[in-house]
Amino acid sequence: MSIPYRLSALGTISGFRTVSDEAATVLTGMLPEDILANEMEKIYMARIGTGDAVLTGVIRSERGTSMATLQERWNTANKGDGQWIRRRNGEMNFHLRQFFTGHGGYRKYLYRFRHEVSPECPNCPILDEDPEHVLYQCSRYREVVSSVPPPEGPVAFMLEG
Ligand SMILES: [Zn+2]
Repeated sequence: MSIPYRLSALGTISGFRTVSDEAATVLTGMLPEDILANEMEKIYMARIGTGDAVLTGVIRSERGTSMATLQERWNTANKGDGQWIRRRNGEMNFHLRQFFTGHGGYRKYLYRFRHEVSPECPNCPILDEDPEHVLYQCSRYREVVSSVPPPEGPVAFMLEG
């Protein structure tokens, strides 16, 4: 992924630079630029060959091909099953992206880059402060997060509908 495209993807998800290319494209819904360029070339060639009359079908077909290519690439990298890319529910936001990637204002993450003196939770010594700890273990946020889905729930919730 080129640097400008990567920065654009990371800007779109408000993601940290340590988020992988694959994760950035999946979280943004942006196609990787090589897949997008291939799609645009095929649509351009179809326009030259057949004109605008059949273009809608070509665009739909080529987007399907591009999404299948992205899915295959994602499966190879992460063993995903495609539900996330195809989901129609659960808009991502700044906080959810930090939660799912673990790249954000968590001490465990910040400690990796020497921005914190310890990875441990200030409230629960010996336990690292990461998304799972903050959401499901830490007593600091118990009242605030009492209504969140169980640990296996956030993704399942976003895939509903
Ligand atoms: Zn804690």
